[in-house]
Amino acid sequence: MWAITSDKLPWYHSLRWRLAIIFIALSIVPLLVFNVIIMAFIQDYFLNDRISELSPRAIVMSNIVTGFTFDGLQQTAPLLVLQERVRVESAELGVRIIVIDDNARVIEDSNVAALDSLIGQTILNAEVINALSGNDSVYLQRGEENVLFITVSARDEVSGRVGAVMIVANVDDIFESLSGIRAQLYLYSLAVGLLVIVLVFVTSQRLITPLRQIVRTVQRMSAGQLNQRIPITSRDEYSILSATFNDMTEKLEQVERTREEFVSNVSHELKTPLTAIKVLSESILSQESVPEEVSREFMQDINSEVDRMVNITNDLLALVKVEQREQSLNIAPTDINALVEDILKRLSPLAEEKKVVLLYEEVRPVQIDADEIKLALAISNIVENGIKYTPRGGTVKVVVDSDHQSAFITIQDTGIGIPEDEQDKIFNRFYRVDKTRDRDTGGTGLGLAISRSTVLLHDGSIRITSKPDEGSVFVLRIPLRRS
Ligand code: ADP
Repeated sequence: MWAITSDKLPWYHSLRWRLAIIFIALSIVPLLVFNVIIMAFIQDYFLNDRISELSPRAIVMSNIVTGFTFDGLQQTAPLLVLQERVRVESAELGVRIIVIDDNARVIEDSNVAALDSLIGQTILNAEVINALSGNDSVYLQRGEENVLFITVSARDEVSGRVGAVMIVANVDDIFESLSGIRAQLYLYSLAVGLLVIVLVFVTSQRLITPLRQIVRTVQRMSAGQLNQRIPITSRDEYSILSATFNDMTEKLEQVERTREEFVSNVSHELKTPLTAIKVLSESILSQESVPEEVSREFMQDINSEVDRMVNITNDLLALVKVEQREQSLNIAPTDINALVEDILKRLSPLAEEKKVVLLYEEVRPVQIDADEIKLALAISNIVENGIKYTPRGGTVKVVVDSDHQSAFITIQDTGIGIPEDEQDKIFNRFYRVDKTRDRDTGGTGLGLAISRSTVLLHDGSIRITSKPDEGSVFVLRIPLRRS
């Protein structure tokens, strides 16, 4: 057996931290992914903007190039014209323009004066090869310098030879602006992230606080303080849990009260005959010589008190048996008419002695699934009460009937009746309407408790109607079949 208290949990097991981590992961990860996507989108946007600005110029240049035949390019005059156009165009656009002939050889480079001029060199990269086969392409070279290569093919319609024009544009400015935007975006994200973290901690604190309260209350209860209740402060699942818990505690307290009451009732019930026995036996013992008839009378009294104790313990055992729900019922098809007739036969000497008429009416034959022995005791207790609480000349009538669902056993007497405010209580253990008189009848106050528990165990019910001095009617309803 080991106990966990929320205070002793390592932080990584605590629900609050787990919630916080989940919430943070759920909000910050999408935020980061969003940043990456938005940055890629902005980069594409800027680059495409630059490409769509430069591509038409590259095409214009390629048209100019094809205005001269490639053979013509070798001639000085047209070459000079082309050189001029390339220089003007590259200065205007701020880019480097390279013209390549059908042998992949550079015939013109706007960087003509620079050290890295490519004039006369052969370029055999994928873009040039592509362009010589008639396809245009764009390539971005990332590195210390970010450079865009826009290559378009230039086809000379007369000779059918294909050359290429390559615009080489430095796009460092775009990447500089991008890193500015990125820095700003990450700064905002950091602010949002911090806000999320604060909110998550505050929210998880609010979510966990009621749970902590429930845990503390349950801990106090398990330490034996049953009178605990959880205050209901919200209208959410916690309030349902708290209300259910409070309900359960109420029932536990009720069970505890009933148990204490039961123990005190049993002790009280047994104490009365024990005290009587003690008094009777002491008075015999205290006298030197007790006349035979006196001691006999005392012994008879002692005997009847012992009988009473035996009755109480028997009834208690019977009650405990029916109330032990786990102990399964011994269910079998039971002929209720025969069962009732049998009970009446057994009780007829008592009825005769009390000069009470016992009547039996069978409306129809009734057979049900029941525990015959337990049910016989339940019915017999009520019929016996009818005889006990009906004065001379009265009648006790038992009627057996049924509908398509249930059997009805009605026990009707013309006895002393039960006041309305007592009718609920008579099913409680040891409850008697008139304590002194009922004790004289030899009742233990357990009979109806046994009857009710048995009927409930059979999924049935007992209904009572009674009027003082007129009589009582007990109707037992028991389902014909067990579901
Ligand atoms: P007991 O063993 O005292 O009869 P029960 O549990 O059978 O105990 O009955 C409880 C009390 O209910 C009785 O003490 C009696 O006061 C009252 N009672 C039960 N049945 C009847 C009845 N048919 N007529 C009048 N009072 C009754």
